[in-house]
Amino acid sequence: MKARILDRADVLKVADLLREQGYEVIAPFRGRGRDTFFETITEENRKRFDLHLPNPYYPPKRFVFPHMERLLTVQKKNGDLLIEPIYKETKRALFGVRSCDVAGIYHLDRFYLGRDFRDIYYEKRRRNLFIVNVVCTDPGEDINNECFCMCADTGPAARDHFDLQLMDLGDEIMAVAGTAAGEALFDHAMFKKGTHAHQEKRAAILNDVRRHFKTTTSWFSATVRYVSQGGVLEKTWEEIGNRCLECGGCTYVCPACTCFTVSDRQTGPDEIERVRIWDACALAGFTRMAGGHNPRRAVHDRRNRRFFRKLAHYFIQRELSMACVGCGRCAAVCHGDVGMPSVVEMVRRATTESDTHEAN
Ligand code: SF4
Ligand code: SF4
Repeated sequence: MKARILDRADVLKVADLLREQGYEVIAPFRGRGRDTFFETITEENRKRFDLHLPNPYYPPKRFVFPHMERLLTVQKKNGDLLIEPIYKETKRALFGVRSCDVAGIYHLDRFYLGRDFRDIYYEKRRRNLFIVNVVCTDPGEDINNECFCMCADTGPAARDHFDLQLMDLGDEIMAVAGTAAGEALFDHAMFKKGTHAHQEKRAAILNDVRRHFKTTTSWFSATVRYVSQGGVLEKTWEEIGNRCLECGGCTYVCPACTCFTVSDRQTGPDEIERVRIWDACALAGFTRMAGGHNPRRAVHDRRNRRFFRKLAHYFIQRELSMACVGCGRCAAVCHGDVGMPSVVEMVRRATTESDTHEAN
């Protein structure tokens, strides 16, 4: 991968360059308090752009997989049915995407594009997307108490699946090209060749940043094994289920959750539209069948499903990674404290206790 150096003051020029190339550039902005959100960069707000700020709870996933999208319309006309697909092909650049969210988008790629059936709606959006990753280097702003990208092997610096990566070295920024499109930006005069000292500074900053993560899920791999082999005790799932309020928050903030439901709604006397909407395994309706039977009526059966989907070896083999990128959002939003790190810890505790019983 080619790397270049630019002045810190020129970061916004990179966004401007993308805007000149016809991209709608979307970046995280600061709201009130801890609130941060993704918004299109405009002439009015561009000065408010900040390289370091808490990662928004609502991930950039919705720019490749919208929470609600119109798929097609069906019209009855002169006895015929006219079916019109609705495709959106906006040329977009996501600017300032954290490494965990880059991995989240790549996870969606493998799910929606990597199998026998390619999702054409997803594909059209994805092929028009340019991703600018920003490495988390400011422990005070970028890294929350819940972040554990290091354990999920996705950060703090993404190794791939971005077009361009920006890393703050202090007065300067290191830019790394991940694709030919990213490298093409290096033709601009603001990008200059770096030196060995820049490389060393990058390594030193990353070493330091890694010491600031507070959440460690060192039992991740053991939990993968327990979940894959059905080794998690039923009482542990029940305990997790008892603490779940079925709000669906963990799914809606998760950059690696892929589930949706499809629904038809009437839009005129002779017209309907088909929409796709995010769905969540936490919600009872997710597995309810047409006749009313629900094979996962109990909350803990649905929680069990979430962690099986995210951690089981079967899925890891199929998708080449866990369906968790360590962003920590589920831990931050869950009212019952059964986000990923807590569940890993609960599985660890219960399994250790059960071993002790057996020894007795
Ligand atoms: S965020 Fe917590 S309480 Fe809400 S559905 Fe997820 S596990 Fe349950
Ligand atoms: S399971 Fe939780 S920590 Fe893992 S990617 Fe989803 S929201 Fe982030």
